[in-house]
Amino acid sequence: MFDTVLIANRGEIALRIQRACRGLGLKTVVVHSDADRDAAYVAQADQALCIGPAAPGQSYLNQSAILFAAEVSGAQAIHPGYGFLSENAGFAERVERAGLTFIGPSAACIRTMGDKVAAKNAMRRAGVPCVPGPDEGLPEDPAQVLALARDIGYPVIVKAAGGGGGRGMRVVHEEAGLLDAMALTREEARRAFGNPEVYIEKFLLHPRHVEIQVLADGHGNAVWLGSRDCSLQRRHQKVIEEAPAPGIDDALVAEVGERCAAACRQIGYCGVGTFEFLYERGAFFFIEMNTRLQVEHPVTEMTAGIDIVQQQIRVARGERLAFVQADIRCHGHAIECRINAEDPATFAPSPGRITAWQVPGGFGVRVDSHANAGYRVPPYYDSMIAKLIVHGSTRDDALDRMRLALAEMRVEGISTNVSLHREVLCDEGFSSGGVDIHHLERWLQQRR
Ligand code: ADP
Repeated sequence: MFDTVLIANRGEIALRIQRACRGLGLKTVVVHSDADRDAAYVAQADQALCIGPAAPGQSYLNQSAILFAAEVSGAQAIHPGYGFLSENAGFAERVERAGLTFIGPSAACIRTMGDKVAAKNAMRRAGVPCVPGPDEGLPEDPAQVLALARDIGYPVIVKAAGGGGGRGMRVVHEEAGLLDAMALTREEARRAFGNPEVYIEKFLLHPRHVEIQVLADGHGNAVWLGSRDCSLQRRHQKVIEEAPAPGIDDALVAEVGERCAAACRQIGYCGVGTFEFLYERGAFFFIEMNTRLQVEHPVTEMTAGIDIVQQQIRVARGERLAFVQADIRCHGHAIECRINAEDPATFAPSPGRITAWQVPGGFGVRVDSHANAGYRVPPYYDSMIAKLIVHGSTRDDALDRMRLALAEMRVEGISTNVSLHREVLCDEGFSSGGVDIHHLERWLQQRR
């Protein structure tokens, strides 16, 4: 049982985790780089330790420095947040070997789910529907590869088993391009991920991105907390998320959710996690599992009425889940806009000093942010500076509330995508719900 948590992350999520810890009566240790030294959330922690220079490789990804910080601060658990070391099985192992608790699933679970071929395999065995295609890597023999693709039917997508962050994928529309695409992706995967294994699956033309949030304890209990729709994406980066996914039959979501929870029990999963699916023509197809807290977790918190980060910490402390599936209900609708420090037209990052910072509030409005007036957005990291989340009794109610909240938001000194969000919230397609993953890029093109 731990009473002090080291937060191995930065920005809004470092603050979010601090709040969850305080709510549970736990002490917090924040580690930070030189660039984040003056951030307000660093000063709010019970202890703060600098672990290196701005470059992530020398600070937030520096495993030895983080473990050393845990030792000198007396922290007994490490929360990795999202990004950085959150899905690094080797780090989870080192944390456990140092006698500390890693707030996340076991290294074995992270490793299995981090390999997309192994993950698909495990999911199919657990009865989770997957994108059509073999759950094994592509063979070397060209004739066999061509036969596999012919079986699936074009278009297909060649993907790196170890890929992530939208990299290591190639769409192939006809047979003539397959072998080259395979060779290129294999080479790229070898260089970028240190794992040359590639696989193919059917390329779906107009899917939505729909995901299921799960929560499991170390005693064999697992529940699913509802669906999220994250189809509004640019270059595979989510821009707006909502819960629940609109317009999908509740019984179908429940069936898929049950399978996800069952899969967690089957693989001995403990902690929070997300099963990501493509949804097309009334069917779900598993693509990958994220074995960590996600940026968009607040929309599920708002609809389920559950503090997901507190629950994650509780199960890491060895507690049993305090509720069963029948206790979980979806109330109303929630939407999240990711506010980035970037040019709303070119998307170029816009670091620098925030001179004015006015955030919206009121009933059903939540802002998760580490920024304030005077805060300097560093150029070294992700450009997200805030998450604006609203909750309403219906989707239309939530959309109205988001429009008003965005109108209230004022940031000066740097550029942000607030104006882009205001425009997207007026788009008829998005407003009516259920758009596919290409909608935002199509909309951006037409607007030009
Ligand atoms: P990553 O781990 O890099 O995020 P994913 O497997 O989650 O990779 O895929 C990222 C995105 O690529 C998906 O959200 C979707 O937009 C697209 N994609 C992946 N697989 C397919 C597929 N079989 N058909 C259509 N689009 C796909």
